[in-house]
Amino acid sequence: MPKPSSAPANSALPVVKLSSRGVARLKSGHPWVYRSDIAGADGVPPGAMVGVADSRGKFLGTALYSSSSQIAIRMISRSGAEVSDLPTLVGDRIRAALAYRREFVSKTDAYRIVFSEADFLPGLIIDRYNDVISVQILTQAMDAEPVRGALIETIVEELKPTGIVERVDARIRDLEQLPPRESGLLWSQKSSTIFSMNGAGANAVRFHYDGLAGQKTGAFLDQRENYAAAARYAHGKALDVFCYQGGFALHLAGKCSTVTGVDSSRPALEMADKNAALNGREVEWIEANAFDLLRDYAGSGRQPAQKYDIVVLDPPAFAKTKRDLDKAHSGYKELNLRALKMLGPGGIFVTCSCSFHVSAADFLEVVGHAARDAHKSLRLLESRSQAKDHPILLSVPETSYLKCLIFYVTG
Ligand code: SAH
Repeated sequence: MPKPSSAPANSALPVVKLSSRGVARLKSGHPWVYRSDIAGADGVPPGAMVGVADSRGKFLGTALYSSSSQIAIRMISRSGAEVSDLPTLVGDRIRAALAYRREFVSKTDAYRIVFSEADFLPGLIIDRYNDVISVQILTQAMDAEPVRGALIETIVEELKPTGIVERVDARIRDLEQLPPRESGLLWSQKSSTIFSMNGAGANAVRFHYDGLAGQKTGAFLDQRENYAAAARYAHGKALDVFCYQGGFALHLAGKCSTVTGVDSSRPALEMADKNAALNGREVEWIEANAFDLLRDYAGSGRQPAQKYDIVVLDPPAFAKTKRDLDKAHSGYKELNLRALKMLGPGGIFVTCSCSFHVSAADFLEVVGHAARDAHKSLRLLESRSQAKDHPILLSVPETSYLKCLIFYVTG
């Protein structure tokens, strides 16, 4: 991005002034400025596109403003010239995001098209599930009608979908002080479909998609490359813990003699079962609390542990905030310890964490402590993260959140 210059002539935008700490934060490359680092935003309307300046009025770039979020400013340009039209910028950036996917994403018709800050579109998430597109709007600025119009127009032009659905998170709308809104169709008729990944034709793994149900935007697309990686090592008896709609389990089913998937959500398992039928696979689905089930399976003094050749752990984020960290570490340690007890020499252990607040180094350490206590020796085969359609932007650490470690149990 070009370097900022002095204030543009004929500034048309409202201006937000930053404290010196806010300026320093922007200079570090991060696009967010917290409310506590705003020196002045008098009369700036909610969700406005704003010019950003230091306390002396020097222009630093263009941003989106939220009147309610702790993140008051999200930069969209550091150019010396103001952005003049947000809908045009949104259309251009969606096209750029698609071009990146066309270059780096293959063997799938389901992937994230826009990943918020990582695609320079803060507050916007767009996922493609074959011919159905799912949109999530997370900020005041992205909720504006002209922005919605531009995004629908661009998606229709570029991808010719049969439906665009919006998934609404009521809690986020509340935090952004946006009026309540229901999830629903934004464009055309279709909200469900079948998508496939990690192969072509009969080799691909197929999933049902219902745009108006399920968690996240319907599937955990960030794990797509990790499914294929786990399948490369899979053999024998497999256990997929926190299986949701069967992402790992169905990829393992082609390689393993038996596959068991565990989740506490009945609707997720019902969909998983439909997905197994869609792929012509047999999988045993167990509805249970994973902590309890693993305690039973890991055995006690009298009961021998159940043995598996590959175990996958993909729990929900335990640390939603920094304050949860201690509890999260002990949750991960306990789960990993129990899972490891079910693996013998030659076994494969796939363990994930999607908590941003638990760093890759922390997670490796926690798994190390679990291995020590389980008396297992682990060899790291792969240290992985999220699929490339969820890009990691180096200047925005929050874009990097998924850890997926694959180990070989040596003893
Ligand atoms: N591996 C999945 C994604 C897992 S998301 C995939 O690739 O698609 C986390 C899952 O954990 C959710 O499906 C949720 O229903 C489940 N879950 C949350 N708490 C649980 C618990 N205590 N026991 C079992 N499953 C749980």
